[in-house]
Amino acid sequence: MNLVRIQKLDLKVSQIEKQVGTITDLLSNNSIIQNAIQENELKKKMLEDLNSEIKSQEVELDKLLLKIQYAENSLYKGSISNPKELQEIQVEIVSLKHASTLMENKLLGLMASSEQTNHELIDCSEKLTMLQNESSITKTSLAGKKAQLLGETEILSQERNVLSNSISREEYQKYQDLKQQKKGIAITSFSDGACDSCGNTLTPAIQQKAKTSNVLVQCPSCGRILYSET
Ligand SMILES: [Zn+2]
Repeated sequence: MNLVRIQKLDLKVSQIEKQVGTITDLLSNNSIIQNAIQENELKKKMLEDLNSEIKSQEVELDKLLLKIQYAENSLYKGSISNPKELQEIQVEIVSLKHASTLMENKLLGLMASSEQTNHELIDCSEKLTMLQNESSITKTSLAGKKAQLLGETEILSQERNVLSNSISREEYQKYQDLKQQKKGIAITSFSDGACDSCGNTLTPAIQQKAKTSNVLVQCPSCGRILYSET
């Protein structure tokens, strides 16, 4: 019975369409790569901020060192003789040196952070490259699988066209309507005197009619078209 074959083709096509849908979803899902790109950008920004802070701290430190040098020079030149003034300069030098030590320590800390962040950035960007390569391989293979599946449905639908042209419009329409109503299963086999879809017992007359008649016989309970496998 051609309708039985049509139903088999339809079930096969809808199964393939589900697979194609899954593949399409997978192909459009970029969240892992998007996250890796974001992480990478974040590390880059952190590194830039750290390096610009290092630069400005270095400028400040240079200013401080110049001040110290200037104060020390004024002591050694011997141009200042006022003991109070000399003492003030000495106190200033101590305080400037203390400030420069603090600043140098801060700079060392910033440089260590910058180095650490730089390592993290290298890791992040290696990870991103790896993910992009993996994704590209996966996408190529998924796209190939999708094309293959679409090719299969094309062949199945050609066969289906030939079959559907070989049956009457009324029968074909009945099949289409039932397929819609019965979640894709419009045709059912029967065995041991009962419908294989709903389990309803069929009278011998109905069974006989389904086996021999040229007209479509439906299960009185579920309405599906009955066909005999024997
Ligand atoms: Zn039934």
